[in-house]
Amino acid sequence: MPADTAHVENPNQTDGERELERLFALQKNAYKSAPYPSYEERIANLDRLIRLTEANEENFIDAISKDFGNRARHETIIAEIVVTVSGVKHAKGNLKKWVRPRKVSTPLHMLPAKSRIEPQPLGVIGIISPWNYPLQLALAPTAAALAAGNRVLIKPSELTPHLSEALKNAVSSEFDEAVCAVVTGGVETGQAFTETPFDHLLFTGSTPVGIRVAQAAAKNLTPVTLELGGKSPAIIDKSADIEKAARSIAHGKMMNAGQTCVAPDYVLTPRDQRDKIVSAISESARTMFPEIDTTQDYTSIISDRHFDRLISLVEDAKKNGTEVVEVGSSNALNPQRKLPLTMVIDPPKDSAVMQEEIFGPVLPIISITDENEALDFVNERDRPLALYWYGDDNEARDRVLQKTVSGGVTVNDTLWHVAQENLPFGGVGKSGIGAYHGAAGFETFSHMKPVFYQSKFANASLLHPPYTEKADKILS
Ligand code: NAD
Repeated sequence: MPADTAHVENPNQTDGERELERLFALQKNAYKSAPYPSYEERIANLDRLIRLTEANEENFIDAISKDFGNRARHETIIAEIVVTVSGVKHAKGNLKKWVRPRKVSTPLHMLPAKSRIEPQPLGVIGIISPWNYPLQLALAPTAAALAAGNRVLIKPSELTPHLSEALKNAVSSEFDEAVCAVVTGGVETGQAFTETPFDHLLFTGSTPVGIRVAQAAAKNLTPVTLELGGKSPAIIDKSADIEKAARSIAHGKMMNAGQTCVAPDYVLTPRDQRDKIVSAISESARTMFPEIDTTQDYTSIISDRHFDRLISLVEDAKKNGTEVVEVGSSNALNPQRKLPLTMVIDPPKDSAVMQEEIFGPVLPIISITDENEALDFVNERDRPLALYWYGDDNEARDRVLQKTVSGGVTVNDTLWHVAQENLPFGGVGKSGIGAYHGAAGFETFSHMKPVFYQSKFANASLLHPPYTEKADKILS
């Protein structure tokens, strides 16, 4: 869909696709007439994001809970509202520094010329967000894109229709749609979105869909940031405090019922510690969620399809004769799709639970003999989005960090590296391309333009032909 061509009605277009086309043309034209919003305008846009998030907090909590069946209220407050607002505030606090041109040195023989890197807005940014943290994963990249002076179109997931509608209303109540707007629709709208010639596209979702997104964007040479998934390991060193590690792993795996891109996917434990870690994780899970069927603190699985997929991973493991430890009650006719933490003990490497990203509260516990076996286990799989290491032996820790490649790492806990605005967040290899959060987000959505300012005193003609001895002297 070239931005400049005259509009031609297509009778096969869905409403979502038509709306996308209209908004994209509107934003592109607005960009042409105002390509460089001032610092003050950017701050005003960030304030709009904070206002819409805070003013609609209760709407968002209700909408997300309706979409999930039950979403723990505190999880929504912490992971959607607080994380989003603190990310926007971080951008506001640092924007003056980020927008400033970076002075870089110029070689002696070119002085007194100057060289600078000048951040410039890219234009119109597309953001495709998933269902698992539907507010944060739509608004955090939006904040970075607006801080960098861009216009933004957001396409949320069709699996969270209540939140998508609430987000669309909240965004339109604060923003001129030429600056920021939400486009809703199904997979066709998602596909049309990826074929739109955005100046940058940020996609958060699964690796298989990410590959399709990259292929579609490549047709326009639209640069992409891909925030994808994968199997993130939690490695327990023999020096670890088992109780603390177990509590942290149970929390990381049960938050949002394991539907977290950086949740620990599986645990690697020293063989002689395995039973101790299984019972410590069980104990921690019971303490945090004594009654999973009835507590509002435990989040539901998003849909029947996702629930059935998780059940079939466990059934497949049982069929193989693998031991399964289910923690807490589960009602077979559970209308809220609450799935208890289910540990799968030493499943075969080729079983389904070790082949695909789990994305739910099913946790393989794998015994390993030594550190090298743990390293081989991680390195023979795709590069994960996150890696967790537990222990007290700093040399062992550094060996594991140096010999594995993952998007990010938290040592002696789970998830927390994602919440640090001074750390870039992104995957590597199959878990993603590029990064955002904090300064990394600002740079992702900026053209970091190199500019060379020649001095009026310079005599560049010495390097023009016909070449003289002076040119040879400069070059020697
Ligand atoms: P998904 O890939 O199914 O969908 C993500 C988004 O893409 C949705 O908005 C969907 O409508 C859209 N979409 C689906 N098919 C499309 C297509 N062909 N073209 C364009 N858009 C399309 O992912 P999901 O099930 O919503 O989310 C779960 C996955 O996301 C997990 O793999 C998880 O690890 C990953 N994830 C990653 C991060 C991260 O920051 N790295 C964060 C959250 C989730």
